[in-house]
Amino acid sequence: MLGPVILAASRSDRMRRLISAAPVTKQVVDRFIPGEDVDDIVPVVRDLADDGLELTMDVVGEDITNPAQAAAARDAYLELVDRLKPLELGTRAEMSVKLSMFGQALEDGHELALKNVRPVVEAAAEIGTTVTLDAEDHTTLDSMFAIHEELRKDFPQTGCVIQAYLFRTEADARRLAASGSRVRLVKGAYKEPASVAYQDKHEIDRAYVRILRTLMEGEGYPMIGSHDPRLIAIGQELAHQAGRKLDEYEFQMLYGIRTEEHRRLAAEGHRMRVYTAYGTDWYGYFMRRLAEKPANLRFFARSMLTK
Ligand code: FAD
Repeated sequence: MLGPVILAASRSDRMRRLISAAPVTKQVVDRFIPGEDVDDIVPVVRDLADDGLELTMDVVGEDITNPAQAAAARDAYLELVDRLKPLELGTRAEMSVKLSMFGQALEDGHELALKNVRPVVEAAAEIGTTVTLDAEDHTTLDSMFAIHEELRKDFPQTGCVIQAYLFRTEADARRLAASGSRVRLVKGAYKEPASVAYQDKHEIDRAYVRILRTLMEGEGYPMIGSHDPRLIAIGQELAHQAGRKLDEYEFQMLYGIRTEEHRRLAAEGHRMRVYTAYGTDWYGYFMRRLAEKPANLRFFARSMLTK
């Protein structure tokens, strides 16, 4: 069971220093994170959009320690919005944000995160697009959902993420589906205790299907965030059963993972959104991708050894 070990390492400063400084790490990281700054990322956005794909953009960097870094994160997103504006992609390029990066874990973090994220949501709306609030570990979620609800008063299109592995999520899904929200459903990427989350893969998959049915039958806009071929097929079936048209739900996958599937779904007429992360502080994001698939770790270790 390598996944939990890697997730524990994702919170370790010592491992962060070691891995970030390793000479070959960058070329492995590039598979998942196609750029360090906004200049790198604009051509990537253009290429994916030209291929008929949609995007959600993530500026990586959740581990901030002071309000100045939270303000810098806000400014990085504002710059991104500025650079997306001339591409005129509207909702085809939206933003995903982690509230931790906007200061949620600092003193008075709830208010600080809301204060920092609001201008990003406003700027996104000005260029005809929107923002989705990512789900982080379970201790952050009450604050995330409260911020989501607050933002939706002025910007009803603001989305949020729910995680199938958490016991609480079925109730969250019912509430969000009734309120007509955009909701991305994922399995969940953090190390969570057995007191709050399913630990067994099959139980998580079964919960995913139950929750997805609730979203599909509800009033909102479901976003199926998964690379799992079975869940993708079930998602299509549930959408069909609920009488949804192709533009009344969407698939989402991460940049660099099952890219042939991105193109297959888009070619079939589905809305297919690619979660595209960029930035220099990629450690936490990268480690979660390693934890999801042990083969990634073997590839990473081999590249270190053969250097
Ligand atoms: P899995 O069973 O893990 O994977 C199915 C198949 O997909 C695997 O067999 C493999 O072929 C491929 N695959 C999956 N992951 C990888 C990988 N890292 N490298 C290579 N191949 C892989 N989690 C959160 O907790 N909060 C979020 O806000 C969040 N946002 C997300 C946004 C999007 C668009 C997506 C797709 C995922 C997001 N996640 C988030 C991560 C999610 O919780 C899972 O950890 C991740 O998607 C893996 O689960 P899976 O559904 O793809 O199924």
